[in-house]
Amino acid sequence: MTPLFVANWKMNKGLAEAREFSSEFTALFKSTGQVDAGIAPVLSSFQTLKESLGELDGLMLGGQNVHWEVNGAHTGEISVGMLAELGAKFAIIGHSERREFYGETDEAVAKRTAAALAGGLTAIVCVGETQQQFEAKETEKVVRDQLKGSLAKVEVKDPSSLVIAYEPVWAIGTGLAATPEIAQNVHQLIREELAGIIGKDSAAKTRILYGGSTKPENIAELMEKPDVNGALVGGASLKAESFNSLIEAGRAADK
Ligand code: PEP
Repeated sequence: MTPLFVANWKMNKGLAEAREFSSEFTALFKSTGQVDAGIAPVLSSFQTLKESLGELDGLMLGGQNVHWEVNGAHTGEISVGMLAELGAKFAIIGHSERREFYGETDEAVAKRTAAALAGGLTAIVCVGETQQQFEAKETEKVVRDQLKGSLAKVEVKDPSSLVIAYEPVWAIGTGLAATPEIAQNVHQLIREELAGIIGKDSAAKTRILYGGSTKPENIAELMEKPDVNGALVGGASLKAESFNSLIEAGRAADK
């Protein structure tokens, strides 16, 4: 399956910085003919980025969140149709920062995911345990429960449009990535749990990304593991050169 490397810019890069990134990245990025890279910018930079990166094959833009309703009284939210209208192809859903700081529940993640898939977006659903849960050896239970809750009643017709991101909270932005062995163990259990939810064949075709302090120097060892199908990248995606190097190193190391 085509690996996928997605930049999560969080609340970074307004217009000027997005333009600067774009001109550098356009000069570096080489498409493989498959869509294997994505950027989720702040929405105010979306259109500018779309215009400046528009000619790049192999790269898609997406949202950092999406709501399940079509429109209405939901201050601060955006619907699937509105994101799609901008040109978004995917949405990140249930990122740990949304879960931790904005009270995002598995139930809401499931509604967002169902709406994204029904509206033709690829849904990147994030799961992952906190440091405390990791130390208490609760990773497996937490990740299985999050996955079940986040996909409850979600109809997955096409497994290529569902992507799971395993992001241990203790590895996000800390410089301390999970070891390839830890990542592989958790990705394997995610695929196993997924098989029970969407069926074995679909689970085998679902990409599972690793996220948490990835960089050009450590992506290869992660990508060598059988169940690691790409990365969700925060800090290392903010510089065009490092995001592009990470993509190239990740592609080269993919099984
Ligand atoms: C993230 O927040 O999705 C992330 C993976 O961040 P970082 O790469 O900076 O750890």
